[in-house]
Amino acid sequence: MLVFFEVNTLNTWLQDQKKSGASIGFVPTMGALHAGHISLIEASHSGNDITVCSIFVNPTQFNDPVDLEKYPRTYEADCELLIKGHCDVLFYPGVGEIYPDDSIDVKIDLGGLDIMMEGMHRPGHFKGVVQVVHRLLDIVKPNRLYMGQKDFQQFTIIDHMIKELNLPVELVVCPILRESHGLAMSSRNERLSTQGREEAAEIFKVLSKSNTLRHAMSPQQIKQKLFADLNHDPFKPEYVEIVDRFTLQPIDRWPEKGTPVICAAVWLEGVRLIDNIILN
Ligand code: AMP
Repeated sequence: MLVFFEVNTLNTWLQDQKKSGASIGFVPTMGALHAGHISLIEASHSGNDITVCSIFVNPTQFNDPVDLEKYPRTYEADCELLIKGHCDVLFYPGVGEIYPDDSIDVKIDLGGLDIMMEGMHRPGHFKGVVQVVHRLLDIVKPNRLYMGQKDFQQFTIIDHMIKELNLPVELVVCPILRESHGLAMSSRNERLSTQGREEAAEIFKVLSKSNTLRHAMSPQQIKQKLFADLNHDPFKPEYVEIVDRFTLQPIDRWPEKGTPVICAAVWLEGVRLIDNIILN
């Protein structure tokens, strides 16, 4: 696996590959990689000639400086996983490479996709996400971009940005990888104690009830019930929301058409965990 630290050297290398007709798959990450990330790398590897992964803990998407500081950084272990997952190129830039000056900004109307759920609880978060993904796409210019369903609102907003700005890239969304007991894999799980990781499985268990409950209850009733089910020690739920899969607008009644998604953010041991399930 090649590792690039600078935009210029990566650009030169990628241009040569593109000239010879190679297709590029791109997986942006913040590192502390796990099997969920590697599933994106593998999806890219099977669909493209070259797979580029970036590791960049983007300061502009953290509204909480403590969260930014505590974000796990595990470069060597990440490289090992990437090599096993057949990643061809790692882009590992410093902040100065990504944000050389104030001109790195994206003016785009997110059409209200960013105001609820994560957007409401993490002010400025999606502005930072849009800014960094746009910048990385501009650097790598991939044919395909791979993102996880785990961050449902994030990939929906990036999909919107790609369409609004007519960017020449195909977004591929990959399913959530979970631990055997159901906890969605996340770099933040590293910060949980062994007991916390076991307890965290309850989040998925509780959200999964919605597929059965929806035959007897309204979305509003389910939201309230599942919030209450999670609202006990050691958990502190921030939100449980049922939204339309595409508009991300909260729904009051079950639609005849369209697909609802249940999304939640829950605090456990000072760690903020998110999860979602597309309801069938
Ligand atoms: P992050 O490093 O948290 O920014 O995540 C990088 C990418 O990996 C994002 O597109 C995430 O949605 C995706 N991802 C994170 N966790 C998982 C998971 N458990 N399963 C699949 N994809 C994931």
